[in-house]
Amino acid sequence: MSAFTSHDVAAVSAAVHEMSETLVSLSHAISADPELSYDEHRAAARCADLLEQHGFAVERASYGQPTSFAARIGSGDTHVVVCAEYDALPGVGHACGHNIIASSALGAGIALAAMVDDANIRLTVLGTHAEEVGGGKVDLIEAGAFADADVALMMHPSPYDEYGPKSLATEEWVVVHTGRASHASAAPELGLNALDGVIAGYNNISMLRQSFRKHQQVHGVIVDGGKAPNVIPERAEASYYLRAVTMEDLEDLRARVRACLEGAATATGTTVEITVNGHVYESLKPHEGLVATFTEACDAIGREFHADPTGDELGGSTDFGNVSQRVPGLHADMAVYCYPAVNHQHEFAAACVSPEGDKTMLEAAKALALTALAVGRSPELVKG
Ligand SMILES: [Zn+2]
Ligand SMILES: [Zn+2]
Repeated sequence: MSAFTSHDVAAVSAAVHEMSETLVSLSHAISADPELSYDEHRAAARCADLLEQHGFAVERASYGQPTSFAARIGSGDTHVVVCAEYDALPGVGHACGHNIIASSALGAGIALAAMVDDANIRLTVLGTHAEEVGGGKVDLIEAGAFADADVALMMHPSPYDEYGPKSLATEEWVVVHTGRASHASAAPELGLNALDGVIAGYNNISMLRQSFRKHQQVHGVIVDGGKAPNVIPERAEASYYLRAVTMEDLEDLRARVRACLEGAATATGTTVEITVNGHVYESLKPHEGLVATFTEACDAIGREFHADPTGDELGGSTDFGNVSQRVPGLHADMAVYCYPAVNHQHEFAAACVSPEGDKTMLEAAKALALTALAVGRSPELVKG
């Protein structure tokens, strides 16, 4: 039985409809002005300004994070946090569609603003910076942003609908090989080639891949391969993501990848330094009650479920995983109807400002708001 009422559905739908132009403008403006993780100053300001205009008490640079914000309204017994991501990717801009995440979170928040007292909610729209790199939500968890949250909600655009997706745990490694520079023709015997160290490590990992456990993944890029062909590179750098389903599988992968890199260093006479960049992303733990409620909300607003015809694929990672391991959480993947365009492609960025993308953003705003109302009206849904 729904914990939100038919009156809730009508009120939320009307509120989102009324501000649909504003929300679409916000979404398109963020998409057109991509900013990388930890540098999302303009996107955070756009969101904070709009929430302030709608009566929220807004703290900018909240929790010691320059590009986060916390916008609060209501004083009810159930604290609902709606997460707004707004960082982009190098080279492909808003190809993960975080413009839709931010705009739908604001849409949900502003629609709820007039209903928080009635539903006994204390609402925070939280600007969660740096999802793509670093793990801004882990910064926010450590600073206490979710300490008194009863529930945390967000959506993510996707080729298909999956309201309770799983994700992989991940961490990023920066790998630097150091050798010795020398003239590549006149005195190559005096050099130690750091690029060879990186290449050997990359190839070792490629060979290891055949014996990975299911869903263990490593992917990498070479970010520094030397400066000139006639100088033996004394420094070379690669960046890898290690992913696995469980922390135990991730730990197994760490040990084996480390051996690949250290073996490469031995073989090439270089030294290797491995640094973990940012936070470890934990896997998503979807809350079944929230997923069911969100599904009902989508049904109530007339959104047809658009399933992945190949079944549930497990891939990708999010720092919302860490949130969901600590607080009842919903990370609903919602279709922008674009397959074979997928996240992190230029075509996906375009899909996230298409009419279909805009429609999904507005539907997400409604469904998130209705889920929040359900939690407010029936806190036992998440409070045990
Ligand atoms: Zn992404
Ligand atoms: Zn994303």
